[in-house]
Amino acid sequence: METVLLDVQRLGNQAIEQAAQLLHRGEIVAFPTETVYGLGAVIWNEEAVRKIFVAKGRPLDNPLIVHIASVQMALPLVREPLDRFRLLARHFWPGPLTLVVKHRGNVPSIVTAGLPTVAIRMPDHPVALALIEKVGEPLVAPSANRSGKPSPTRAEHVVEDLAGSIAAVLDAGPTQIGIESTVLVLTTDPPRIVRPGVVTKEALEAVLGIPVEEAVPGDADRPVAPGMKYRHYAPTVPVRLFESPEELEQALQDAAEQRILVLALPQWRTRFQHSPGYRLLSEQTLYETFREADRDRWEAVWILVDEEVQRRRGLYNRILKAATS
Ligand code: AMP
Ligand code: MG
Repeated sequence: METVLLDVQRLGNQAIEQAAQLLHRGEIVAFPTETVYGLGAVIWNEEAVRKIFVAKGRPLDNPLIVHIASVQMALPLVREPLDRFRLLARHFWPGPLTLVVKHRGNVPSIVTAGLPTVAIRMPDHPVALALIEKVGEPLVAPSANRSGKPSPTRAEHVVEDLAGSIAAVLDAGPTQIGIESTVLVLTTDPPRIVRPGVVTKEALEAVLGIPVEEAVPGDADRPVAPGMKYRHYAPTVPVRLFESPEELEQALQDAAEQRILVLALPQWRTRFQHSPGYRLLSEQTLYETFREADRDRWEAVWILVDEEVQRRRGLYNRILKAATS
């Protein structure tokens, strides 16, 4: 299959119309959101949804997030809890927050992996919203990467992973946030974050007025998001973490012969910029740098995870997953 590249800047609305037509015909199409690029199919078309799992090489027991363009579009899917769902939707949508609720039994089980719950999000991206509106139905969309690879933050990444196995990519440039949405499960008491992102526990607690839990990856006593048991976010080259700049500096001196890509926050720039592989660390560029490490055959990625990085839960979570997997 030839994958069509639809450049939104050049083609404008026509690009979105073409993508919508393909989706209506049961094809799968990648599109930008504010977090990462998603790989979309119409929620009701089981055959199309199946194509997503095949193209990504994704296990069937890893459920998909349903993307909608208005709260109205979501409500026919949601059984409970409606009050918390509406409250959070009002405060955080459109935005990088996915809400997991009990569904009404009408969501195809290939979408939910047979669970009684469904994950829903309204993306904060004009192209994503226009596309969903044009299609007129919710779109299921996991990240548009091959399973196990870092999520795509540019259309080029999608092409790298999926060209030839999807109908089209809507290209609207690099994504703003760069890591996946916060996933909040609302069916437990207290509600539980099963994937941290840029919407923080504190922000959620402030709106809900109650405490929110954060699931610990690998904590066997708690049911966590199905996706958490799979290898994610990681480059092929080894990723090693350092908690102090001195430790990192020393290790770099000891490994002077090796080609090492060093990632640290901008405040460490003057300390590490002389190292040949220095890159700024941020949510926005993390996955791109992981892809670069593989493509340009760096021997390792070393990351300075100082206190600030550890406070940025979404960023730190993706780094930990890359390092331990
Ligand atoms: P992605 O493939 O990056 O779009 O990630 C989708 C993630 O959403 C999954 O890996 C799960 O962590 C989460 N998710 C989707 N549906 C559910 C659900 N019903 N319950 C809990 N988490 C879900
Ligand atoms: Mg993913």
